[in-house]
Amino acid sequence: MKKGTLYIVATPIGNLEDITLRALRVLKEVGLIAAEDTRHTKKLLNEYGIATALTSLHDHNEQKKTPSIIAGLNEGMDVAYVSDAGTPGISDPGYILINKAIENRITVIPIPGPSAVVAALSASGLPMDRFFFLGFPPARKGKRRHFFKSLQEEHATMVLYESPQRTLDTLRDIEEILGDRKVVLARELSKLYEEILRGTVSELIEALRERTIKGEITLIISGKERGDSPGSPESIIPQFEALERDSRLSMKDIVSIIADQTGMPRRDVYNQVLKYLKARKSQ
Ligand code: SAM
Repeated sequence: MKKGTLYIVATPIGNLEDITLRALRVLKEVGLIAAEDTRHTKKLLNEYGIATALTSLHDHNEQKKTPSIIAGLNEGMDVAYVSDAGTPGISDPGYILINKAIENRITVIPIPGPSAVVAALSASGLPMDRFFFLGFPPARKGKRRHFFKSLQEEHATMVLYESPQRTLDTLRDIEEILGDRKVVLARELSKLYEEILRGTVSELIEALRERTIKGEITLIISGKERGDSPGSPESIIPQFEALERDSRLSMKDIVSIIADQTGMPRRDVYNQVLKYLKARKSQ
């Protein structure tokens, strides 16, 4: 029996006009739409007169629900997966379903469309030749600061999602840890109150200090400028701590990566790391 196809369909991040003709056709033609929130997706389907059956698949039931959807696909039914907004899997559910489908040799086809990462980046005015999507930074302050410390040497433009309540605290951490970099705050893209603020971190903090920040926010941070002076011996420690969490990397690998990224001689990196490990052990 011919298996069905799993379509990963991107949907609007605000403005319902941002749906592709192909997405509408696929949503109409499949046997079932699995949606992160069926009530939310129903609004989109009603707007376009689509009556396809819906079932829910979200973070809390993805593990449990995936087998029945895979069974349908194995029996020949085409299924579309949509999240609440944007591209499924991008800080959204979908990963488990997609992998189970691949494991079952089911064809997985993306239906490209909106994603806040790319939309925000495209209008940011910051370099787009290389970017690093970071998802949501940790909500807890200590972890978040650690997270930004691990990015001090990153040259690529960085894109992250943040809740409106934490935006100001996150900007303050960025200023303190990464310095007064250029940043872009993209708020409510494609919606009525769309706003794009561009400036240095301190300028944005100043502009937002007295405001209640609302809506959906994507933050873009410029990477560390190339040609900056090679890292000071101490500045490699956050980088080392981030890399040592990756169990696939040996000490030699870590030293090479840091030396390549900072321009410091390997021997100096090695000595600095040894000094740090010794101090850490004696704490
Ligand atoms: N899958 C989605 C995508 O492809 O963009 C992202 C889902 S994630 C759960 C939701 C976050 O994306 C929001 O908290 C916000 O940070 C960002 N986001 C979504 N819509 C946005 C919009 N219209 N403007 C700015 N940021 C948005």
